[in-house]
Amino acid sequence: MNILGDYHTHTKYSRHGHGKGTVLENASVANEKGLKQIAITDHGFNHMLFGIRRRDIQDIKEDILNAKEVTGVDILLGVEANLISQNGNIDVKVEDFEFLDVLSMGFHKLVHMDRNEDFWKLSLPHLIGTPFAPSKERINRNTTAYLKALDKYPIDIITHINYEFPVDALAVAKLAKEKGTYIELNGKRINVSERDLDIMAGEGVKFILGSDAHTPDRVGECNQGLNLIFKLGIPLSQIANVDKLPKFHNKRG
Ligand SMILES: [Zn+2]
Ligand SMILES: [Zn+2]
Repeated sequence: MNILGDYHTHTKYSRHGHGKGTVLENASVANEKGLKQIAITDHGFNHMLFGIRRRDIQDIKEDILNAKEVTGVDILLGVEANLISQNGNIDVKVEDFEFLDVLSMGFHKLVHMDRNEDFWKLSLPHLIGTPFAPSKERINRNTTAYLKALDKYPIDIITHINYEFPVDALAVAKLAKEKGTYIELNGKRINVSERDLDIMAGEGVKFILGSDAHTPDRVGECNQGLNLIFKLGIPLSQIANVDKLPKFHNKRG
């Protein structure tokens, strides 16, 4: 059993020191650990602190070409896009699809939202926190936003589902399956119950392991997800990057 790729890694292009390594450093660690492919998925453009800038894209592309040549690891250019509205908008424009090999999406706080109302409804409940379980209304609103995003965009991976943004994970996973979108088992945090993962697996949802490395040494570290896969007996055929490479929506053949 081998993990062949890591599809969630950050670099220095996630600004303000949020990501620590370079593309080459991430690829070198991947190579040492026997990975064939990685994705560079820095934080989306609307993140107030950590977002990449569109003017950095050319530099990232050049770094990728160079790192591929030096390490032999195949490197995909992606982004960890942010949900920015209740209508399911994310911070990626149609033009961006030209350079994106893989499109990941997750909810993050401290993101420029489409409208004030989106901030009040989606971000604020998390920012102020509450000792109570999230209301049904909030979960429904969040879930609807995710479902709309899945409908609107060719999203390849939903990152850390339920982290800081409670949704009906089963409903999201069901549509994700229809759309050919992978549900990530994140290397740092898994916020879906074992029961729900079990149900998803039974329904044929496809998962993908991602380290969410913010330092090069963490690239390829997916044990948290792997342990759950073994514990729950999820068939390895449903894990996109074990003993095979995933298939993403657009772009590369
Ligand atoms: Zn994230
Ligand atoms: Zn991330």
